Amino acid sequence: MISLNASAHDSGQAIGLDVGGTKIAGGVVTAHGYVVERMPPMPSPATDQEATLSALYRVIADLRARHPAVEAIGVGAAGMVNFGEGRIIFAPNNAYQELSLQQFLEDATGLPVIVDNDSNAACWAEFRAGLRASHMAFLTVGTGVGGGLIIDGRLFRGKTGIGTEVGHMIVDPHGTHRCGCGNLGCLETLASGSALGRYGRAAAAAEPNGVLAELAGGAARVTGEIVSAAARDGDPTALALLAKLGHWLGIGIATLVNLFDVELVVVGGGVSAVGDPLLEPTRSNFERYVFARSHRRLPNIVPARLGVEAGWIGAAMLALTQHDQTGPTTSPGNPGKRLAPLA
Ligand SMILES: [Zn+2]
Repeated sequence: MISLNASAHDSGQAIGLDVGGTKIAGGVVTAHGYVVERMPPMPSPATDQEATLSALYRVIADLRARHPAVEAIGVGAAGMVNFGEGRIIFAPNNAYQELSLQQFLEDATGLPVIVDNDSNAACWAEFRAGLRASHMAFLTVGTGVGGGLIIDGRLFRGKTGIGTEVGHMIVDPHGTHRCGCGNLGCLETLASGSALGRYGRAAAAAEPNGVLAELAGGAARVTGEIVSAAARDGDPTALALLAKLGHWLGIGIATLVNLFDVELVVVGGGVSAVGDPLLEPTRSNFERYVFARSHRRLPNIVPARLGVEAGWIGAAMLALTQHDQTGPTTSPGNPGKRLAPLA
């Protein structure tokens, strides 16, 4: 984790929370992205909407007790989020739907709150992490594939906030593996950590004495993490599987670049931590498939800087940016206001 160019006293502070399918992470962040405190991640309540709300409220109350200067709250949440209404429409791995989270948290805390999709929040944090680009695509390759888009220095969300579901771009409609969304051929089914685990189990079954089966203690136990670990050790089978992931990612990125002419592509998420074994085949396949490659300057494809904390850091920064534009307590000369492009 890098600290963005700032100190704990650079500007206002906000609580950022990342509500994922398996855990809730968060902390206190300044407008420039300096982390004042990070809380230990806790499991997401699996079955109960009320439990989720009370867990979030407790976390916020704890953080506020230690950081009374906190002036806003940002939540990045997995799933479909209506940004204008701060409402989580649907999240396949969480115990809530049609949840007016922004309203609940504003009523409960008296602070301004924003609720955004977790990938949008992470995209914003990466964009603000000193990258020199006004048009940027962000892809997060983890259990699934998510993403975000910066157009002209602003997050592009579509009309309601549910745009840029890059993981559900259809790249192979004749594929055989059905996505969690119900469709065939979504990028997520072919280029995610889950896909890597699936490729790994198939490869290990075909090669029962190979490195993957040995590392996992059986072909059926191979995960994406194990494939990445084997690739770091130079196992050719694992490297070929990451190249397969990169093939599909490159195709997805080519489509994003064809549509939006971004000048930079940032790849984050847990799987991207493996580095070049994924990024090199991603780059070469991107170059193979992008439109008019010999007539344009191709964007760089670079690894994300903030790792898994980007979601809550970005949510807090978004909350402060939003608050600066609309809130009653904006201090004159707040550097966040000068430096933050409108979100
Ligand atoms: Zn899908």
